[in-house]
Amino acid sequence: MIETKLDRVGTLYVVATPIGNLEDITLRALRILKEVDLIAAEDTRHSRQLLNHFDIHTPLISYYREKEAERSEELVQRMLAGETIALVTDAGTPGISDPGAVLVQKARAVGVPVVPLPGPSALATALSAAGITDGSFLFLGFPPAKKGQRQKLLSTFKETPWALIFYESPHRIDALLADVLEILGDRQAFWARELTKIHEDLQAGSISQLLALATGRRNRGEFVLIIQPGFCQQVQGENLEEILLWYQQNTELSLKDVSGRIAKDLGLSRSDVYQKALKVWAATNEES
Ligand code: SAM
Repeated sequence: MIETKLDRVGTLYVVATPIGNLEDITLRALRILKEVDLIAAEDTRHSRQLLNHFDIHTPLISYYREKEAERSEELVQRMLAGETIALVTDAGTPGISDPGAVLVQKARAVGVPVVPLPGPSALATALSAAGITDGSFLFLGFPPAKKGQRQKLLSTFKETPWALIFYESPHRIDALLADVLEILGDRQAFWARELTKIHEDLQAGSISQLLALATGRRNRGEFVLIIQPGFCQQVQGENLEEILLWYQQNTELSLKDVSGRIAKDLGLSRSDVYQKALKVWAATNEES
């Protein structure tokens, strides 16, 4: 049982670091990394390079997925004894498909203040360039490596009305795209590869177009894949009525708001969508 010594308790800083371009480190991150007693890093050799670049010589300790439970006990004890610790991962924001959650939970549970420092994340960076008008999305992290499990997961989200976002490594991106095509259909999608790096590559297109780009070549760099919801492609097949019905049955939005949103998302005339929505609403009112 951990005892708290609140008079001397330290702080846990959760520090986002660059996902490629070192200029993306924040001034606050640099100051905190300099000032803390200890930096807990996913890979100490990797983080040492970053710290050397900024002339920071704070001691490092390793904190990686397989050791999270054990190492977090030790780190919490040190913070209870008054030490301040910064948590970093190899790239981006700790806790997003990265270690961090266990330490954060344990620190908070015993009254150690947890201070997050915002900064780079591949998720937010990709989204900012994707142009998803709706604003809603479902982040699913890394998909399972095994085909069967991956396909099962994708089936679960077949009817989801929001964009799906995955992280994926270069050697599995083609397998993921092939499964998306098979299970979810030829939806519109976007990939962000090598974000913030020299060979940054942003591609928008259908899943089959992206699959053609990814197949048969050596894909370098990590990917963020954003898959648009199914209705974006259905509407090109004149399936507007079905979409309107879905919104009517599954959201609290008014007829006007639904028409406005669909018209904007799909580049259709607002009044045409509104007229169609009136009919759908009237028909369902008659039924009930
Ligand atoms: N916590 C990190 C974050 O906030 O971005 C993510 C860590 S996760 C282990 C690594 C994955 O993030 C990669 O496989 C890739 O999908 C994505 N990623 C990280 N850096 C990236 C970059 N520069 N360009 C594109 N995707 C990147």
